[in-house]
Amino acid sequence: MTETAISCQWCDSAEWTARYDSVSVVNARLDVPHTLYECAQCGKLSLFAHWGQQHYSCRAIEHRRRFRSSLYVAIYSVACAWCGRSERLEPEEINATIANPASQRHKYDIYGCHACQRYTAISYLGEIYAYRATQDDRYHTLYYLDIEGEEEAI
Ligand SMILES: [Zn+2]
Ligand SMILES: [Zn+2]
Repeated sequence: MTETAISCQWCDSAEWTARYDSVSVVNARLDVPHTLYECAQCGKLSLFAHWGQQHYSCRAIEHRRRFRSSLYVAIYSVACAWCGRSERLEPEEINATIANPASQRHKYDIYGCHACQRYTAISYLGEIYAYRATQDDRYHTLYYLDIEGEEEAI
């Protein structure tokens, strides 16, 4: 068996300049060590994690902290739950507050879509699920999941 080739999750280059083991990830899918790679081509960051025979990789951004080591935010590739255009989603809020979570166990990140200007919430523990989300009119850090719409689907 050959080792999985590590490629940049932004530009697909297989060259990287730096590698850091066991970095802290704010919104990790699984509680396993994550390795961070910095791309030699575009300079952006990618995260890799593996457990047993499985592995996943995703884009990452650095969250710098004063006097402490950086945290990293995983950016999962999800399609917009409203319009389906995945390439234009950007993380807006990590560990967002959800008024009506599908499960209390789950944590949610909010992604904003630049194509339709709407929000998609993802829960990412183990499997990734995407939901249509709307922001509260008054409390902008509060979001609602469109769970009923899903249940009505035939
Ligand atoms: Zn790259
Ligand atoms: Zn959209």
